[in-house]
Amino acid sequence: MNIILLGPPGAGKGTQAQRLVEHRGMRQLSTGDMLRAAVKAGTPVGLEAKAVMERGELVSDEIVSKLIDAELTAMGADAGAIFDGYPRTEAQAHALDALLAQHGRSLDYVIELEVNEDALVERITGRFTCANCGEGYHDVFKQPAVEATCDKCGSREFKRRLDDNEDTVRTRMGEYRAKTAPILPVYEARGIVRRVDGMADIGTVTDAIEAILAA
Ligand code: ADP
Ligand code: ADP
Ligand code: ZN
Repeated sequence: MNIILLGPPGAGKGTQAQRLVEHRGMRQLSTGDMLRAAVKAGTPVGLEAKAVMERGELVSDEIVSKLIDAELTAMGADAGAIFDGYPRTEAQAHALDALLAQHGRSLDYVIELEVNEDALVERITGRFTCANCGEGYHDVFKQPAVEATCDKCGSREFKRRLDDNEDTVRTRMGEYRAKTAPILPVYEARGIVRRVDGMADIGTVTDAIEAILAA
């Protein structure tokens, strides 16, 4: 099974991908996570991507497609892939088709998380993650069960992203509308797009996605 989770920043792609990884043993391929790791490690890719990400613009198609290629090569053929935050442009969508063919995979579904844009700023500005295991949280919508302690690993250290501020979110939403939303018709023509109400509770969204994958 190979699926794309598509939706604007804050739609819940990462949250849902983490749950599918737990429930189904699939692998999450998040270009955002890969790029943040590269920035942290100070690799050439990271050095090139850092300022672009801080502005909320898109990193080059070549860079992200190479990152995806490397992950697909590293993960082997048997695990399913969840593409989270990739592809984001038409060029990336074409690159993904070629990469999937090279790796003997094919795309099962593109799941679009439909969300009200006004909700996204609140989602993004309240977002934080466990610094140890990466579990995602929210100040209002998904607080740890025990205050300031990660549900999954017990760590008491959390972090927030530099780009999760209102200004950058507006730029990122603009990028989504201009460059990412236009790739949907290509997948619609193949009959693989499924829509999910991303405004529902986290668990309800997961159930809707699970129902699609089980069909
Ligand atoms: P994306 O990966 O699409 O940018 P995230 O999964 O990181 O989005 O979600 C953004 C923020 O919104 C996180 O803090 C997350 O906990 C929260 N969130 C995710 N899904 C929901 C939901 N269905 N309802 C309320 N909050 C949510
Ligand atoms: P979100 O889901 O909140 O939009 P991501 O973690 O997916 O955030 O991406 C963070 C930033 O990393 C983006 O704003 C962009 O600068 C860069 N990025 C991530 N994935 C891609 C991609 N596929 N193409 C170009 N830039 C990307
Ligand atoms: Zn943790």
